[in-house]
Amino acid sequence: MGELPSVVVVIARCSRNKQWWGIRFEEKLPGRWTADWAFVIKEAVARREGYDRGKITGVFVLDAAYPGCPHCGAMSVFKCRCGKVACWDGERYTVTCPWCGATLKLSGQIESLSAGRDR
Ligand SMILES: [Zn+2]
Ligand SMILES: [Zn+2]
Repeated sequence: MGELPSVVVVIARCSRNKQWWGIRFEEKLPGRWTADWAFVIKEAVARREGYDRGKITGVFVLDAAYPGCPHCGAMSVFKCRCGKVACWDGERYTVTCPWCGATLKLSGQIESLSAGRDR
């Protein structure tokens, strides 16, 4: 994939039920990506669309309108060392990744995410 547009989709999974969902990020200022929408997506669709082929870097923020995980309502996200994203309740700093099953202690900021073109 070439240069990504300023609106992308990042695929995540729910920490509680492991279901797939997507987060829409918009680069509202250069290098500042704002999450403003979240939606349920089927695993097969997510795989077919190749949402993990690109990469975005910078600062990631959640818009006031961001609705949270569409499966459990968790309002934040974390990125595992496996590189994947999952919903996060913003409270417990020891989490289990729904992608790889690793238990990890959260720290630091997200600096990059795999992303794909919004359609
Ligand atoms: Zn969730
Ligand atoms: Zn993981």
